[in-house]
Order: sequence, then C-alpha cells, then structure tokens
Amino acid sequence: MQRKILEIKKMLPGIKKNVLLKNFTTFKIGGPAEYFYIAGIKKELIKAVQTAKKLKLPFFILGMGSNVLISDKGFKGLIIKSSLLNFRFEKNMVYAESGVPLSLIIQKAAKHGLGDMSWGVGVPGTIGGAIFGNAGSKENSIKDVVETVEVFDVKEDKLKIFKEKDCNFSYRESVFKNNKDLIILSATLKLKTIAREQIKDCYEKSLKYRQNTQPLNFPSAGSIFKGYIGKIGKKELLNQFPELIDFNKKGIVPAGYLIDKCGLRGKTIGGAQISKMHANFIINTGNAKAGDVIKLIKLIKIAVKKKFGIKLAEEIKFLGFSKNL
Ligand SMILES: Cc1cc2nc3c(=O)[nH]c(=O)nc-3n(C[C@H](O)[C@H](O)[C@H](O)COP(=O)(O)OP(=O)(O)OC[C@H]3O[C@@H](n4cnc5c(N)ncnc54)[C@H](O)[C@@H]3O)c2cc1C
Repeated sequence: MQRKILEIKKMLPGIKKNVLLKNFTTFKIGGPAEYFYIAGIKKELIKAVQTAKKLKLPFFILGMGSNVLISDKGFKGLIIKSSLLNFRFEKNMVYAESGVPLSLIIQKAAKHGLGDMSWGVGVPGTIGGAIFGNAGSKENSIKDVVETVEVFDVKEDKLKIFKEKDCNFSYRESVFKNNKDLIILSATLKLKTIAREQIKDCYEKSLKYRQNTQPLNFPSAGSIFKGYIGKIGKKELLNQFPELIDFNKKGIVPAGYLIDKCGLRGKTIGGAQISKMHANFIINTGNAKAGDVIKLIKLIKIAVKKKFGIKLAEEIKFLGFSKNL
C-alpha cells in the first residue's frame, strides 16, 4: 500500500489524497476521492491515465462536474480533473482543449462574429464534458459544430483523431460515453459566421429562457433524465394529456413533462427536492446527500413507469455507487 502511494506520487507530482469531491461538482454533493490530480496540459492527462492503468487503479475524468452524481462515500481510485485550457480561433474554426469551459468558447466566438451555439449559453460544463454527452437542446447539440476530436486511447496507449462521424453522436450519446478508454484531449469546432447583433439577440433570449425555466439559484446537475425518444400511443393517456400528441409528432417527450404529470414537483427527500420550477431538475436545498437524490430518482422512475408505461433513462453519470443502484 505504502509502496503504491510513493509510486503514484513519484509519477504524478502534485497528486493529493482524500479530496472532497462536493467542491468539484455543481450539485455540491460527493465524498472524498482517494486520489485527486489536476492535469493542466495534455502530457499530464495522458501520464495520469497511464499511471492509473499501470497501478490498476480505477480512474475517472472530471470536467466541471456539472453532469455527475457522486456517492457520499466518494470514489476509491484516481479522479483526474481536466484543466487543459488552451484554445485558439482561426477564421471560423476553433481549436479548444477538453478542459476549456464551453461558455468561454461561446462568448469568445461571439466576439469573432461566430455563433450558432445558443443551446450552450449557460451550460456550466467543459468542451470535453459536452462532447462526451453530446450536450445540447432537444434540437441542436455540439455534434453540429464538431469537426474532429483528439483522443488518447488508454487501452491501445495511442493518440487518435476522430472525425465527427466516428464519434457516433446521437441524442445525449457518443462513442466516448460507451468506451471509458477514450480520453478527450481537444477538439476542433466549425462555427457559422453570423452578424454580431443577431448572435447577441439569440444568446440573450436563450439565457433569459434558461433563467425563467431553470432553478439556477440552487446547486443541481441539470436535467437528471433524457427525454423519452418515442411515442406514447395509449388512447386514455392522449385524451388525458393532449400535449402528448404534439410531443409524439416531434418524437421526443420531455422527461420534465412526465415527472410533472405524476404530481412530483416539489417532492422533497432529505435535502434534495424535485424542482418546483423544472421537474427534470433535482436541486440541493442545502445539505442533500447523494442518497436523497437516488431515492428521488427511484421514486420518479417508478411513478413515470406506472403512469405512462415507459422507462426513463438517466442523463447524468453516477460515480462511486455499487452497480445496482
Ligand atoms: C444548470 C445546468 C444547466 C444545464 N444545461 C444543460 C443543457 O442545456 N444541455 C445539456 O446537454 N446539458 C446541460 N447541463 C449538464 C452539463 O452541464 C453538460 O452535460 C456538460 O456538458 C457537462 O460537462 P462537464 O465538464 O461538467 O462534465 P462532467 O460532469 O465533469 O463529466 C460528465 C461526463 O463526461 C466525462 N468527461 C468529461 N471530460 C472528459 C474528457 N476530457 N474525456 C473523457 N470523458 C470526459 C466524465 O468522465 C463524465 O462521465 C446542465 C447542467 C446544469 C447544472
């Protein structure tokens, strides 16, 4: 054990032990990481995953922690926080490393007269996190602007370039979400040239919409569940909830709508609450435990299944829990 600590410290200078993860998530929930390392450059990120592999230590890459729920017991292994912060603009192309905040790119792009990312205004994540989960709105996502992604493949110990089509993007999905050996180092994005006034207008509207519909003054992880891709065809349900007809036409039923119709807005367990403002957000009202959030998630899934006959799938990633939550 002592040998392992000395070895890891030698390989990753600056590594820390027992770092409380709640301070690195937007939910403000999460116990300690056994080991915690901040990678500031690509070489450090690669070295960190190689070290974890060599020492057979479980690892997890953390961006801004805005789409994760971490257990109160924390994580036995190595948390690698990606703080790769280089970016540059060339004409309508942007090169950005994985730790760069998405909001910074959107803001700088607007100054260059580049836009078309209004869905991302106010998303509190990194470029790496956004590509991992194909972040976006119902209609648009980062997929629309990604040209290439630079990846380190831990299994093959090799750098790779993925073109957009290799990323297998779909609604809140990507090849990266299904293969934890693929570490996102950087990406090139191709943006549209748009009049600055138009971008400003669009972004202001988008931000206002977010402020009016999301509980931004409480810690959360954004939407807990993905929208339901598919149709709800039961006649009694369509009669009772006519909005479903429109959602069926679009092919996606918002999870927040379904949770709301189960009467769960405001439902509270411990310090966690299903937001009264947006039923797909669970907020931390102060001292929420991961266990409180898990109980609400289970309750929602049971209620939606019972009322609408469908299984909601989580959008957030879980860390530090046993496999069968
Ligand atoms: C108030 C609020 C509003 C939000 N609104 C939206 C929205 O409109 N649309 C939307 O899609 N999401 C939204 N989110 C969710 C979240 O902000 C996004 O999904 C964001 O892109 C996650 O980025 P992150 O850096 O925080 O990732 P993290 O939460 O740190 O990580 C998420 C996953 O990505 C993986 N990951 C991160 N970086 C890398 C990397 N370099 N290589 C490999 N894997 C990596 C992690 O291992 C983890 O599994 C919202 C969240 C909040 C709190």
